[in-house]
Amino acid sequence: MFEPPIQRLIDELARLPGIGRKSAQRLAFHLLNVEEPDALRLAEAIVEMRRQVRLCSRCFNVTAEEECSFCRDLRRDASLVCVVERAQDIPVVERTQEFRGRYHVLGGAINPIQGIGPDRLTIRQLQARVGAEGITEVIVATNPTVEGDTTALYLARVLKPLGVTVTRLASGLPVGGDLDYADEITLGRALVGRKEL
Ligand SMILES: [Zn+2]
Repeated sequence: MFEPPIQRLIDELARLPGIGRKSAQRLAFHLLNVEEPDALRLAEAIVEMRRQVRLCSRCFNVTAEEECSFCRDLRRDASLVCVVERAQDIPVVERTQEFRGRYHVLGGAINPIQGIGPDRLTIRQLQARVGAEGITEVIVATNPTVEGDTTALYLARVLKPLGVTVTRLASGLPVGGDLDYADEITLGRALVGRKEL
């Protein structure tokens, strides 16, 4: 349809989530019309992010260092760990201002239909952390979905024998959605009112 360099960019943009064919075309022609340094800055930001960002060696959050800023922050309570499905969930919990511990990112939730078993998540690494870091409570903040609940129950089963308290966010969160559908007040209340599993 378009000249090859333009078509190539349209094809790449159209592969992004939430970007349809039409939006991809609009973005490509927008980038064609902005000042060249502005377009290059976007390209560089993508390259830099991919080159610099990796997973925290302790909690699997995204970071540009060996360990993420939460794991490096000595003022945070290392005995308390909040387990989330994805790194994007951490800012959601942070906004509640109700949590001052550390995190652990699972990399998803148990989903037998999609073939995602516990071994595909960072559960083994979490078990190792509980043993090594003096963790006393694990707060499971997986999404309020069937998969999130299944994962929470599995975590309780494998972590409790290690002598740690396992809690789950209180109800009141919008069921079936992602954690970030909840506003910070609702999520904050769910954190404070967490229940032992
Ligand atoms: Zn970390």
